[in-house]
Amino acid sequence: MMIELQRVIIHQGLSLRELLARMDQGGAEILLLVDGSGRLVRTITDGDLRRLLLAGTALEEVQFELPEKTPITVQDGTDRELALDLMKQNDVNHIPVLDDFGRPIELLRARDLESPILLSTPHMGDQELSFINQAFDTNWIAPLGPNVDAFERELAEKVGVGHAAALSSGTAAIHLALILLGVNEGDSVFCSSLTFVASANPILYQKAVPVFIDSEPETWNMSPAALQRGLEQAARDGRLPKAVIVVNLYGQSSDFDPIVAICDKFNVPLIEDAAESLGASYKGRASGTFGKLGIYSFNGNKIITTSGGGMLVSDDRALIERARFFATQARDPAPWYQHTSAGFNYRMSNVLAGIGRGQLRVLEERVGQRRAVFERYRDSGIGGESFQWMPEASFGRSTRWLSCGVFDSEGRVDVQRFIERLAEHRIEARRIWKPLHLQPLFEGCAYFPHDEDYSVSDHIFAHGICLPSGSNMTEREQDRVIDTAKKIFAEF
Ligand SMILES: *Cc1c(COP(=O)(O)O)cnc(C)c1O
Repeated sequence: MMIELQRVIIHQGLSLRELLARMDQGGAEILLLVDGSGRLVRTITDGDLRRLLLAGTALEEVQFELPEKTPITVQDGTDRELALDLMKQNDVNHIPVLDDFGRPIELLRARDLESPILLSTPHMGDQELSFINQAFDTNWIAPLGPNVDAFERELAEKVGVGHAAALSSGTAAIHLALILLGVNEGDSVFCSSLTFVASANPILYQKAVPVFIDSEPETWNMSPAALQRGLEQAARDGRLPKAVIVVNLYGQSSDFDPIVAICDKFNVPLIEDAAESLGASYKGRASGTFGKLGIYSFNGNKIITTSGGGMLVSDDRALIERARFFATQARDPAPWYQHTSAGFNYRMSNVLAGIGRGQLRVLEERVGQRRAVFERYRDSGIGGESFQWMPEASFGRSTRWLSCGVFDSEGRVDVQRFIERLAEHRIEARRIWKPLHLQPLFEGCAYFPHDEDYSVSDHIFAHGICLPSGSNMTEREQDRVIDTAKKIFAEF
C-alpha cells in the first residue's frame, strides 16, 4: 500500500525516456527530483511528462524545460488530516514529507489517508448502554430476561402488531415462520428472487422447494403479475405453495394490496421478510405487518442493530407462543426435560435485547438520517441522466436503508469497474443482490419473470449499485462519495 520511496526518487540528467520508464516502475504517478545532497528540487507528475511528449520533445532528450513549480510538501510529524486538507486545497494526490534538511522521507498519497467509508455500519444511540448495564446489575446475562420481554413488547407496539418473539437472527425468524406454517420436505415455497440469500435458505433447511418470483420496475419488489402467473400455474399443477415469502428490498415496502389479494384468492399464507424495511410504511401501516407472519433483522448492517438478532411478529398469539417454544429446544411442559419435537436454540439473549431497546428509541431518527443521505446523493446529480435511483413508490415511505440505483443499460458504465474504482478511494459500494434464480445454489428452481419474456431483476442486478448509506455518515463523508463518484463516472 505504501509507496516505496527509492522507486520514485530520481536525480538530474535523465532522458525523457528514462523518466517515463521510472514513472512506470514507480507506480505512483509522481517522481521526486532531488539534488546531490538528497534535497527535494521538485515533483514531476505523469501530466508533466505527457505535456513534454505532446510538445514534441524527443525521447532521448535530456535538456528540456519543465514548467516552474514549487512542490507542496509537509514537514515530518505533520498531522495526516492536515496533509489531506492541503492536498485537497491544492488539488494534488501526493505530498512528499521532508526532514529538517529538506530531504524526502515519505510520500503520502491522498487515497491512503482517507478513512474508509463503509456501506452501512452500526450506529448506537445513548441509551443502549444503560439497558445493558441493567442486565449486568441484575445478573440477567443468561438468555431471556426482562430486556427480551420488554424489547418484544416495545417493538410490537412500535409497528402495531399483536405479538413478537425476539430471536437470534432474521434467518432464524424466517425458518421458524416456515415451520409454523407447516412447510416440510417436498413442499413448495414462493419467494422474491431479488434478495439476500437468507430469505430463501430456510426453505432449504426444511428440504422444501423454492420457486422464485421476479420484481416489478416500480418498487424493485415482488411483481404481483409474476406472482399471479406463478400461483395460477401451481394451481393447475395441483401444487400450491405452503407459503409466499415477500421481501421488502432496501427499505421499501412491496405493493401489498394486490399481493395480499392474490395470496388470499389462492389461500396461501404470506411471510413478510422486512429485514431491510423496519421503519418503512405502506399506506400508513408499518412494514412487516402485512403477512400472517413478519420478520425483522437486527444484524450489524441493518437500520437498527443488536449486533445480531431478529424478530418474528404476528397478530396470532398462538403462532408466536409456538415460535418461542421451538426457539427454546421445544421443551414439553413436564417436570423433567421432555421433548416430542425437534427444537432450536434461536432465542435472543437478554444483553442483546438491551441494545435493541436502546436502538428502537432512535429508529425514526435513523430513518430520517438514511433518507437525508439519499436526498443529498440524489440532489448532487451523480451519474446524470444515465443513472436512475431506486424509485420510491407513492403508496409508502421507504427508509432508504441503502441508497441504490441503476445505470442505463445502453450506457458506458461498467458497474463492477465503478465499484472497484470507488474501492481504490476506500469507498465501499456494492452490487445489487444477485437474484436467487441466478444463483448456483438454486439451479433448476422454477422462476416467474415480470413479463413472460423480460426479467426485471436480471436487469437491476446487471446495472445496479448500492452506495454507502450509514445513518452515521458525516456530510464530509457524503461529499467525498459524491465527488469521487462523479469523478469516476466521468472516466467512462
Ligand atoms: C439481513 C437479511 C436477512 C437475514 O437477517 P439476519 O439477521 O442476518 O439473519 C433476511 N432477509 C433479508 C432481505 C436481509 O437483508
